[in-house]
Amino acid sequence: MSILTIKDIDLFNKKVMIRLDFNVPIRDGIILSNKRIKSSLPTIKYALNKGAIIILTSHLGRPIEGIYNKKYTLLPIVNYLEKKLNISINFISNYLNKKISFSKYKSKIFMLENVRFNIGENKNSKSLSKKYANMCDIFVMDAFATAHRKHSSTYGIINFVPISCIGLLFNAEIKALANIVSNPIRPLVSIVGGAKISTKFNVLNYLGSISDNLIVGGGISNTFIAINNNVGKSLYEPSYINKAKKLLSKYNIFYPVDSRIGKKFSKNAKAYLRNINSISDNDEIMDFGDKTINLMYNILIKAKTILWNGPVGVFEFPNFREGTKCISEVIKKNQPFTVVGGGDTIAAIEYFNIVDKVSYISTGGGSFLKFLEGQELPVISALKNKLDLF
Ligand code: AMP
Repeated sequence: MSILTIKDIDLFNKKVMIRLDFNVPIRDGIILSNKRIKSSLPTIKYALNKGAIIILTSHLGRPIEGIYNKKYTLLPIVNYLEKKLNISINFISNYLNKKISFSKYKSKIFMLENVRFNIGENKNSKSLSKKYANMCDIFVMDAFATAHRKHSSTYGIINFVPISCIGLLFNAEIKALANIVSNPIRPLVSIVGGAKISTKFNVLNYLGSISDNLIVGGGISNTFIAINNNVGKSLYEPSYINKAKKLLSKYNIFYPVDSRIGKKFSKNAKAYLRNINSISDNDEIMDFGDKTINLMYNILIKAKTILWNGPVGVFEFPNFREGTKCISEVIKKNQPFTVVGGGDTIAAIEYFNIVDKVSYISTGGGSFLKFLEGQELPVISALKNKLDLF
């Protein structure tokens, strides 16, 4: 069943609370990356054009609930948005314990202070959810990156507000991801790298089941190598060796035949090539070796769709970025339909300068992974249940 989007609802003169993800890096009041704020703009502009009274909400960082901390104020975002939208925004800090007459203000756009200052936000407190709901007629969820969590301002509010829907960014995210998992142009090659297999085991299971090839890299592939080999000082998880073995027996998984190892985990570490059956106790696997890269290249050039989460080596270190570079180069040259998500992977595509060659970059780290586990996001379930009631 589908869910309502902001375009299905009449917003004119309605109090519309839009939950966004303005959780951006800020140092000394300066916004260091405005990417998330920029991707929120279409929904805000849409609501403005439709004549809504707009109440923006977001979290920022992890302050202690109940205690105001200047470091986590949303004020820098308000200043940024005022310039971007060329409109003055009413910033409201004390909004839980008094009734606010939104219609009295000249400007029709408001921002509430960081929801994570409110006691109960992270625990999805019912009374807090009701307070948010009482402030508005319509709730628009557009913070895709937080849709895997059940918090009052993202999830709890849905039960108490008359109408709820998703915004334009959220809609674009779920459409792109649903399309790639349910109807990919094949061959679909998924790449899962990163540090620990335990954090992505469900993702491997699900992507293994839908992909023509699943390439595993990074610390994750070390556990696959460890099924039959010594991995020395490398990052791996012994308790997952049997589980990795089972995955190998079920799916078409590609993992390294050789590696780039270092003698210390440092940006100055030199790289040495080793076959996976000749890793010694002092070696630390930090990237794919050349034979692996060649084999992977032959898989990647056939891909019509690539789904990528996690660098396949310690790409932050100059001598250990060859595998991740190879993936970036194939995407650049062949331009298959590519979806990328996760902070480190986005940093990698920025480093290799292929951002404009990637078809879709997901803004949602945790939500992106939850989606790739084949699971419905809690916020989506809540929105569907709500529709069922009508
Ligand atoms: P994740 O958050 O799980 O996607 O992990 C990303 C991090 O994994 C990046 O910072 C990489 O440097 C790191 N990583 C990739 N390959 C390895 C490896 N072989 N050993 C240790 N860390 C790695």
